[in-house]
Amino acid sequence: MSVNLQTPIVYLKGVGPNRAETLQSELGIQTFQDLLNLFPNRYIDKTQYYKIGQLQRSNADVQVVGKIIHIKTVEQKKGKRLVATFVDDTSEMELVWFRSQKWIRENLKINEPYVIFGKCNWFNGKFSMPHPELELLKEHEAGLKIAMQPIYPSTEKLGNKGITNRVISKLVQQLFLETKGRFLETLSPNLLHELKLLPKNEALFNIHFPKNQDLLAKAQFRLKFEELFYIQLQLISKKMLRKQKIKGFNFDQVGDLFNDFYQNHLPFELTNAQKKVIKEIRADLGSNAQMNRLLQGDVGSGKTIVAVMTMLLAIDNGFQACLMAPTEILANQHYNSIKELLKGTDVTCALLTGSVKKSARKPIHEHLESGELQILIGTHALLEDKVQFKNLGLAIVDEQHRFGVAQRSKLWHKNLIPPHILVMTATPIPRTLAMSLYGDLDISVIDELPPGRKPIKTVHRYDTNRLKVFRFIRDEIKKGRQIYIVYPLIQESEALDYKDLMDGYESIVRDFPLPDYQISIVHGKMKPADKDYEMERFVKGETQIMVATTVIEVGVNIPNASVMVIESAERFGLSQLHQLRGRVGRGADQSFCILMTGHKLSSEAKTRLETMVKTNDGFEIAEVDLKLRGPGDLMGTQQSGILNLKIADIVKDNAILKSARYYALQTLKDDPTLEKSENRAVRHAYTQLVKHKNIWNYIS
Ligand code: ADP
Ligand code: MG
Repeated sequence: MSVNLQTPIVYLKGVGPNRAETLQSELGIQTFQDLLNLFPNRYIDKTQYYKIGQLQRSNADVQVVGKIIHIKTVEQKKGKRLVATFVDDTSEMELVWFRSQKWIRENLKINEPYVIFGKCNWFNGKFSMPHPELELLKEHEAGLKIAMQPIYPSTEKLGNKGITNRVISKLVQQLFLETKGRFLETLSPNLLHELKLLPKNEALFNIHFPKNQDLLAKAQFRLKFEELFYIQLQLISKKMLRKQKIKGFNFDQVGDLFNDFYQNHLPFELTNAQKKVIKEIRADLGSNAQMNRLLQGDVGSGKTIVAVMTMLLAIDNGFQACLMAPTEILANQHYNSIKELLKGTDVTCALLTGSVKKSARKPIHEHLESGELQILIGTHALLEDKVQFKNLGLAIVDEQHRFGVAQRSKLWHKNLIPPHILVMTATPIPRTLAMSLYGDLDISVIDELPPGRKPIKTVHRYDTNRLKVFRFIRDEIKKGRQIYIVYPLIQESEALDYKDLMDGYESIVRDFPLPDYQISIVHGKMKPADKDYEMERFVKGETQIMVATTVIEVGVNIPNASVMVIESAERFGLSQLHQLRGRVGRGADQSFCILMTGHKLSSEAKTRLETMVKTNDGFEIAEVDLKLRGPGDLMGTQQSGILNLKIADIVKDNAILKSARYYALQTLKDDPTLEKSENRAVRHAYTQLVKHKNIWNYIS
């Protein structure tokens, strides 16, 4: 045993200190193992040899065997080029060079068989290949047959430093030479057998040097499965461990407050989905383990009441509860609706946000520490060190994706025993993504809207039909409704957005003049106090139209507002459009969402608009969004590093992910500590993985 995969890459033959440094800084390669796990992005198929007579005008990469019979330099206005005539037994073509002509001319061998490879163009009635890769046929035949040439990830700096794709490929070959291509198996014999997976050695060999398409596909499958399997194994075992080890407060009382509220203060009959979720939460709270549950429910599905009833359970058991929201507007709104719901009970409740004055904070801090204050609602101001609970038993986090895991665990550390955690999100997360992002959480879904809601009618209108849209708005206002008109706000072009907004505002003021129409405007450049004032006027019904940027995206609940007009709708992402639409449809009236765009639309924008028109279902929309944009752009995943996956893609490899999760669960159910001899390989790999790369690399 000479080399081990943890050997620093500098010791690989062909890598000196300089290259080691570049490999590390550009590709994060420190060890043999890292290079071994540098998987090619794609492959060039060199299994095929073409005859010149078979070439198609398809501009594809081709490989041809033939001879150079003639070389000449062609003078042009733009400069010289070197042209070689290349023939086989079917026809002839040209090879062309613009650079390094002298060197090539001196080194090319006439009338010797060559294998050429490159992109083939149809030019001036002939096939030609600029700057082909050339190899003498006899060398080609003697060399290691790499049928499918791997193309590795690269960067500009790598190229500049001479670490070309060919160099990397050579280094990987060297690595296989030095290690004899023998690598430890990392999956159990059962899994290999049941899923007919390639053994590790073969998979690694074929991912770097595929013998053919079929083996490449098998190698990819095996390595993707393995990658996803170990992520799931970590998530699931973390969850199992938490349930076993992390004691939670036991809320065994369903006490007076909860019962009184349920019998006397519930403003409406709970939907079945709400009942189901409350049951799931109650089971968690009484299980002696810490709850860590994600509550997903579309906008308007009624998560607030679930939050309130969960908080009552905490208070009934002698604990405090808090609710943290991502913005002040939303924290305010929660505070107001929760106060409203708790009217007639003795529960004490306070609001703490950045704009709460110092003098008002002091009593909050004191009452929190004494336990007089039972519920605290606020923004991340809750995370400040000064905020000390007497006994926090439950933390509810709204709109999780804006907080991230680090902050979640900060709440956690406020106690010796962690509070129960309920994360609420209005952003439906596709199941596949949820599995990877929140695999360590339990998930509850409110998949039913309160009764009596009329689905929002959504239409797409071109700017040229604006007059008709305005007429419609006028009619709705006549019926007593209120209207949102939203403009995009995209940071990179803030000034432009602002101009759009102001232009739009002016034209709306022109079409909806005083004194018949009152208009509010809210945008990011306004002082908070002015914003609140305008918002307030709209909430009170003093204004009929609210012109705004996306600040109203989260938050406001104004049942009388029944029309949402979204300007330049093609510039919004799907989930944003869906969130915005969720601002209407909250009252008893029929609500409308009007998506305004110009005529020029990308095909992706068209898909987004069509999806919005077609469905109100947030989960369906999230699935489309995920397919359109990939996981990297979905909210919450930016920092999640789910893209650090080396080979799998959680969208495209959805089926493999499901299977990986299934088998990870089976493996742990059958052998929670991975002690059985058949799981020896898995345990070893798992320990290595946890040692070298914690799961939080993926998650946070
Ligand atoms: P979410 O926070 O999930 O977007 P909310 O909790 O704000 O939704 O509820 C949206 C609206 O629906 C609120 O006005 C709320 O009072 C109402 N609501 C919630 N649950 C029910 C129900 N079961 N029946 C009738 N109305 C409900
Ligand atoms: Mg809400």
